[in-house]
Amino acid sequence: MGEFEFIRFLEGENSSFFHKEVIRGIGDDCAVIEKDKDSVILISTELFIEDIHFLREKTSPYKLGIKAVNASLSDIAAMGGVPLYLLSSVSVPKDIGMGYLEVLYKGIKYACSRYKVDIIGGDTSSSINRIAISITVIGKMEKRKVVYRKGARPGDLIYVTGYLGDSAAGLFLLKEEIDAPLDVKKKLIDSHNIPEPDILAGRIASEYEFASAMIDISDGLVADLNHICEQSNVGAILNLEDIPFSKELFSLKDRLSIYELALYGGEDYKLIIIVRPEKRRDFEEIFKKRGILCFKIGEIKKEKGIKISSKEGIKELEIRGYEHF
Ligand SMILES: [Mg+2]
Repeated sequence: MGEFEFIRFLEGENSSFFHKEVIRGIGDDCAVIEKDKDSVILISTELFIEDIHFLREKTSPYKLGIKAVNASLSDIAAMGGVPLYLLSSVSVPKDIGMGYLEVLYKGIKYACSRYKVDIIGGDTSSSINRIAISITVIGKMEKRKVVYRKGARPGDLIYVTGYLGDSAAGLFLLKEEIDAPLDVKKKLIDSHNIPEPDILAGRIASEYEFASAMIDISDGLVADLNHICEQSNVGAILNLEDIPFSKELFSLKDRLSIYELALYGGEDYKLIIIVRPEKRRDFEEIFKKRGILCFKIGEIKKEKGIKISSKEGIKELEIRGYEHF
């Protein structure tokens, strides 16, 4: 059983809840709990394990703290919500020392302060040999404006809120598998180490009711777009030429397969926003006015599967992304 199959197995278990306030359980970026008749609470949790999600000797504890928070807040952004509170639990091997833990928490605190998120709890423990961090985020939003993964319809347009593949390229550079000029290296490694959650983009997409479906890119463009397609019972076609690249990643196009990284590399934490065609003009105008990037990369189709169109014709894309087991 793969990771996604396991999630589907859990979803099957969660068809009935003890509490009627549960609007959505497992299966979207956040669980959605009714707060009162107009508003909901959003809850999501993430786990970061040494050697699976990060390499201790390649990441400073301060940046690791920031990344753990930012990646977690991205799930609130993906519903269109406002983040409010966070709980962080950390487990570190005995030999690692309190200094490490202190700096890690400084990073967590700094990231929270940037988004006015209060740390309201957590736990610490020692572990046998690896660091483990668990972050739970809590947010709020208007009940009728929550954007789920399930709302995409054929004819809707597919947007992403930034350049793709930078984070995966950053990992190659971090592991010193390739080299690049210093400024390129810094930009791409930063994209990997300290991704920014697109909270403002998510908020605008939900407040103006631009988005019919939304998700953040954690496992890769194709894998995450596939979550939208499966839950909306649709397919999609992407345009190869519209895939947005940063100039830094583009400059490495002879050394890295940049399309592979953009389609399948994870952890970009940009949003995929699905927009009805009639809202296209207002959506693009307001995003431009607010200085937020958005690129139209394709269209939702009735026919299942994800395809890509290029000069060479239309090709079916393999559905795969980063699976943790
Ligand atoms: Mg997500």
